[in-house]
Amino acid sequence: MAPHAMTGPWTLRMPAAMAATLREHLFPGDGDEHGAVIGASVVTTARGTRLLARRLYLAEDGVDYVAGQRGYRMLTATFVRDRVRDCRTQGLAYLAIHCHGGTTRVGFSGTDLASHERGYPALRDILGSTPAGGLVFATDAVAGDLWLPDGGRAELERGVITGWPIKNLHPEPPPSPTSDPTYDRQSRVFGDRGQAILAAQKVAVIGAGGAGSLVIEYLARLGIGEVVIVDPDRVERSNLPRLAGARARDAHSWMTDLARPRWLRVLGHRYATPKVKVARRVACQANGRIRVRALQADVTQNAIATSLVDCDYIFLAADSMQARLVVNALIHQYLIPGVQVGAKVQVGPGGVVTDVFSVVRPVAPGFGCLWCNELLSPAKLQEEALTAEQLRQQRYVQDEAVHAPSVISLNAVAAAHAVDDYLHAVTGLLPTTYEPRWRRFHPLVSTAPQRVRCDVPRVGADCTECSDTGRLGQGHNTPLPTK
Ligand SMILES: [Zn+2]
Ligand SMILES: [Zn+2]
Repeated sequence: MAPHAMTGPWTLRMPAAMAATLREHLFPGDGDEHGAVIGASVVTTARGTRLLARRLYLAEDGVDYVAGQRGYRMLTATFVRDRVRDCRTQGLAYLAIHCHGGTTRVGFSGTDLASHERGYPALRDILGSTPAGGLVFATDAVAGDLWLPDGGRAELERGVITGWPIKNLHPEPPPSPTSDPTYDRQSRVFGDRGQAILAAQKVAVIGAGGAGSLVIEYLARLGIGEVVIVDPDRVERSNLPRLAGARARDAHSWMTDLARPRWLRVLGHRYATPKVKVARRVACQANGRIRVRALQADVTQNAIATSLVDCDYIFLAADSMQARLVVNALIHQYLIPGVQVGAKVQVGPGGVVTDVFSVVRPVAPGFGCLWCNELLSPAKLQEEALTAEQLRQQRYVQDEAVHAPSVISLNAVAAAHAVDDYLHAVTGLLPTTYEPRWRRFHPLVSTAPQRVRCDVPRVGADCTECSDTGRLGQGHNTPLPTK
């Protein structure tokens, strides 16, 4: 892939578990200075360059991190050499870390900067195609000095810890945003700062059907800055009871009525409004300032999946196994938190409804993946791949495709909970002790504890998809499981 030139703003994204380990190492309560190195994948996009923390090397005090000749402490030459070599082999940027005192404000000392000038040009030459640099942390702040392969130098704009909450760290507290009267009522919940965070977000919604169309309307009304909507399908008459913003004429209902001749019905399906266009209309009506990218396409296509790597969050509201596989990979590989939403009506023999539920499965990078929790079945993936071709051939020949049972209110339960989780995570309202749960809402179950089931997702130790021996933080260094 032809890389973009590495451009700012520069951000560092870190899985929550790694951030917790680093925090414990840097701030054990002794008030002293400690050191470490992060190896980070480099992903440059139109929204700037992201450093995805992939490897964390803790420097042992007194062994790897020792009294300095010029500064207070320093990493030993051996430790630096070995870590730079690891980073070069794995195609990662090398980021040396130490800590200062303080909380929400941090910056390099003159001695720090002088040591960068002595050391980083040489490290950058060894690395070749990735930056070398330094990061300095306070308990709630980070600053970075990056030495780029093209000879340039850049500052880190912020760090993002991709857990619950999704936490932003800056070199100093950002200036107070101006308040917008449109959002007066919700600013009382999230603050003007929270509203400014929402306005700066780029969120992907995969699937603009029943659940997806509601998620899109909620996001647009909340004041999200940009949404990317991905769905290959067109509106059908049987979507109208569930699709936010859809009109009868979007489905060409008069042409697709069963009383019409077949050729007219085929035409009606072929020229019905794409679901992404309906979603864009809904989003723009809800919020005149929102930017919408409507992609009438399948997320399993490589070009589409790759265009999502600069998003801040992903809602998965499409129900194919292949879409799950690709979105799950995007979440872990590119450190973009997300959620799977859906609703299901299970029908037994004789068409009897046996179970009904709405489901919300938040997935943070490195925590609770759809693969190691067996929500991705290799057998079903294969079955889908085989039938996909047949389905494509039948498309527009058949009348409306056969769909699973579905009801708007079931989708609304899932969509509302998923947007709620996102909102509280990204605006920083969640306590740092918050533990995400996968939730299933069963409206037909009579007894209380089983009506809402909460599961703690398993974290597979050596999962190929979500562990650091697998995709976690790999960025462009490994291919996505796309077509
Ligand atoms: Zn320092
Ligand atoms: Zn996993």
